[in-house]
Amino acid sequence: MTKDLSIVIPVYNEEESIPELLEWIFRVIDKNGIDSEVILIDDGSTDGSWNVIQNAAKKELRIIGHRFNRNYGKSAALQTGFDHTRGNVVITMDADMQDSPDEVPELVKMINEIGLDIVSGWKKTRHDPLGKTLPSLFFNWVTRKVSGIPLHDFNCGLKAYRSEVVKNIRVYGEMHRYIPLIAKWSGYRKIGEKVVEHRARKYGTTKYGMKRFLTGFLDLLSVTFVSRFKKNPMHFFGTIGILSFLTGFIITVWVIGEKLYRQFNNLPRRDVVDQPLFFLALVALIIGVQLFLAGFLAEMMIQSRSKKDEYLISETTKDRTT
Ligand code: UDP
Ligand code: MG
Repeated sequence: MTKDLSIVIPVYNEEESIPELLEWIFRVIDKNGIDSEVILIDDGSTDGSWNVIQNAAKKELRIIGHRFNRNYGKSAALQTGFDHTRGNVVITMDADMQDSPDEVPELVKMINEIGLDIVSGWKKTRHDPLGKTLPSLFFNWVTRKVSGIPLHDFNCGLKAYRSEVVKNIRVYGEMHRYIPLIAKWSGYRKIGEKVVEHRARKYGTTKYGMKRFLTGFLDLLSVTFVSRFKKNPMHFFGTIGILSFLTGFIITVWVIGEKLYRQFNNLPRRDVVDQPLFFLALVALIIGVQLFLAGFLAEMMIQSRSKKDEYLISETTKDRTT
């Protein structure tokens, strides 16, 4: 049975926040008469989070809990939530009450009435330490430049989606920071932004240290690279491979040519292996071949993978033959 809204909440050791958060969410959706379900994914918590979720689900039918057997990460939790949603609109929200449920009705409206695919929250005024906000400014700037998506706050946990979007993208690794990019590359381009209230963490601690900025940057590289060259990695590896091989080849011809020329004219000459250029040529040739092979292997991997989920059909004309 479909619903108006599914709220997806990844949970990792947030036992204190959950009851308060749920109470607040239901207050808001009941007041606004939004037919909803709330899906909590316990990402292998080691505190009492799962107990809290179970108890809440016993009392309130609209709460559904899923529990991982270990900590897989926020992306995995979100993906599992997405797999189980039945709502026409899907909203994700952190469990730590840094995101305000009061934003929910407006977000739903922006998807339904303006017709956006995604609305991303923007924590314009943040209540986080400077060591977190400053790098995040830089991080968002880089991501804007790379993706061409004019969002201010890619990593905001509070986001709303049209159901179709979450059913057709896959979030893995630490890619939850780049869901707008993944969505855009799957053809969902109507991406909007809403300034949202951000609150200081009341209970518990942040699950990500400074490491997030390094891994976040590496993830951006892979997300960009994969999206650009996924269909034909040979275009990338092959191009640099050919360039490298050609450079090596031209140098080799030059080195041999020079040697022959000097020999022919009885000029003083060095051994080929005495010349730095010779080694440069050698390295360039080998790297060229290696890159070529890498591209070739990548192509073979793509060929052998199932093509099923590769192309997204958004509509089909009516079948009139039956
Ligand atoms: N989270 C999770 N799995 C993890 C780490 C975090 O499900 O491995 C959840 C966490 O419980 C919270 C949300 O992801 O609901 C955001 O985490 P956090 O508040 O620590 O991140 P921050 O707000 O500091 O960016
Ligand atoms: Mg938080």
